[in-house]
This record gives sequence, C-alpha cells and structure tokens, in this order.
Amino acid sequence: MPFSFSSRLAALPPYLFAELDRVRDEVRARGVDIIDLGVGDPDRPTPRPVVEALAQAAENPANHQYPLYSGMNAFKDTVAQWYKTRHQVDLDPAREICSLIGSKEGIAHFPLAFVNPGDVVLTPEPGYPVYHSGALFCGGVSHFMPLLEKNGFLPDFESIEPGLLKKAKIIWVNYPNNPTGATAAREFYGKLIAWAARHEIIVASDAAYSEMTFGDEPHPSILELPGAKDVAIEFHSLSKTYNMTGWRLGWAAGGETFIRGLGQVKNNVDSGVFQAIQMAGMAALTGDQAPVRAMGRLYKERREALTPGLEAAGLSVFPSSATFYVWVRLPAGVRSADFASRLLHEAGIVATPGNGFGPSGEGYARFALVQEVERLREAAARLAKMKF
Ligand SMILES: *Cc1c(COP(=O)(O)O)cnc(C)c1O
Repeated sequence: MPFSFSSRLAALPPYLFAELDRVRDEVRARGVDIIDLGVGDPDRPTPRPVVEALAQAAENPANHQYPLYSGMNAFKDTVAQWYKTRHQVDLDPAREICSLIGSKEGIAHFPLAFVNPGDVVLTPEPGYPVYHSGALFCGGVSHFMPLLEKNGFLPDFESIEPGLLKKAKIIWVNYPNNPTGATAAREFYGKLIAWAARHEIIVASDAAYSEMTFGDEPHPSILELPGAKDVAIEFHSLSKTYNMTGWRLGWAAGGETFIRGLGQVKNNVDSGVFQAIQMAGMAALTGDQAPVRAMGRLYKERREALTPGLEAAGLSVFPSSATFYVWVRLPAGVRSADFASRLLHEAGIVATPGNGFGPSGEGYARFALVQEVERLREAAARLAKMKF
C-alpha cells in the first residue's frame, strides 16, 4: 500500500467508544437485555416548537443559499440577548459571537487560529478528547492537567511549571464537567482570568452543560467576570440543553480577537450553519424555557434512581448538581476496564471506563443518565446484587 495515514492521525488515541460498542453488541446478540449508560447523548426528543420552526424555515428558499459564514445576524442577536438575560453579560453580536456547526467543530478548529507547531495546549484529563485532537491537528503539544477528586476535579493551574507556561497558548476548562459532573464557582474563573492574563494564555471555556443544572440558576459563565474578554472565549452548544445533538448547532462568544481568529479558520473550512437550523436554534433560545428546567429536574431524579444501586455495589458516587453524568470511584484496586467488562457481562449494563478519558480517570467509571427512571431503577437493582 503506497498510502499511509499522516503522523497526526497515527498519533490520535483510539476512539473511546469503538471497543465498548463492539463488546456491547456481542453481548446483546446473545439475548442479554442491555441498559446502555455509555454515550452522553440525550434520549428525549427535541422540543416540538423547535422542530416546527425548522420545518417552516426549510420552506423558505432564502434559506437554501450559502449562509453568512460567521452566523446569521438574527441568530447572533438572539445569543447576545440570551447572555444578557441568563448571565447579565453584554456582547457585541457582530464581533464577539460566531455560530458553530456544533461546539465540537469550534473546539477542534480553535487551536488552528492561535497555536503554532510545538506550542503547548493545557488540557484537562480526564476530559473531552477533542481538546487533545485539536492540539494534535495543528502540531501543538498537549500538556495534560490532572483533575483530582481532592481538588473537586478543578485543574491546579497555579502549579504548572514556568517553562511550560512560556510555550502555552491555550488552557481548556469545562464546567459543568464531562465526565465528572464537577462544577466551578465564579472565584475559580476569576483566579483563572488573572493567571491567564499574567502568562498571556487564552482561556477556552467549554460550557456545553451550563444549562444542564438541577436548579433554576445557570452555571456561571466565565464571561461574567471582569476582564474575561481580554483572555477568554466560551464555547456553547444547543446539543445538551435542548436535546439537539443531531442538529449540529452551537456558538462561540468572547474576546473579539479570538472570535475573529476562529472565524478566519472557519471561513476557509466550512461555509456556516444551514440558516433554517439557526432559525430553529433561535426558537429554542427564545421559547419557553420551562422544558429545559424540567429536564434538569428529570436528570436529578434519574441520578437519585441509580445512586442507591451504585452505593450498594460498593461504589463511591461523586456528588453533583449538574450534567447527566454520574462519576463513581471504584473500590481500591479495581481497574476501570475490568469494572466495565464485569458490569456488562454480569449485569448487562454499559458504563464508560474512567481511564478512557485520561489516566487520572483510572479507578473511576462514568454512567450517562440517558434512560428513563424505570430502567435506571432496574439498573440499580442489578447493581445492588454485585460486589466489587
Ligand atoms: C457534548 C459535548 C459538547 C457538545 O458537542 P456538540 O458538538 O455541540 O454537540 C462539547 N463539549 C463537551 C465536553 C461535551 O460533552
């Protein structure tokens, strides 16, 4: 074969869910009733009014042409208004907001705008794998920051050695956090901004779960803090908030330079988001938000349905008030992969081994609350019969 994959592809870690999916399908084929709590993809459908807004917008030929690459003005105005009401943040929609084809797209492309080969990207682990892929694709080097339970799964950025900081261009943070469910306080963002300004590092904050909280208050946005726009960009998504993972719609907001750099990359790679989808997104953001709050309460109820089974099996559940993930510490000496394998074979339950998100996830597992309460009670009953 004269063709081989580039070194950047060869350097990618294996796709986390591929092997897990294969074994799950094998067990299912044997007739086992599988309760899949693996992938973080909301199980409930997109709210009706959003689907209707898309259907209507799809009829309009004006939406059939290339969209404005940085996003429809009306969509960006809606996002600016959303920040004002939800976070009391003022943003200039023309310069400080850009629409994304899902936030993953923006997260993967952003380093291309600011990272030169050999530059360092500070990446949390356990964490969303795209921060590392994005760094790899532009020749950057990830420096992994362990997220430890004793620190509430917040990175200890103050302890990063000065030699690395000189080469660091971006620090990624993600709260509410996937996979741990950890949240961050305003004070954390305040310290992070001051530190980043001192070392001239861009803070890239992934806020995909900011609305997936159990109460009515949103998780704080880094943009609420003074000085944020000088160093920070925030990535947002409609995927988790409105059960719209398949639609591919998100946005980036923050300092003008960061938005302009990202926009320039995107201008050369894609041609923006289908306008009908942006209009559906506007319907989601401006419509009745009661269903969003109801989903938050539902995830809390689901968490409470699963937790007793996890505890009965001897697992330690990290308490959380956000996301649809339950992050559990396994008893000492139990390895993540062995746990996930036993869980699947003996209880028909799929969970994600924590080490799949990074070495500090070893000894942990993640359960995604993407099944109805009844099924989670069934999962809890099966778990309660196991001992690890
Ligand atoms: C789901 C998720 C996203 C959002 O992805 P989209 O591309 O917007 O669907 C971003 N970051 C994290 C950590 C996620 O778990």
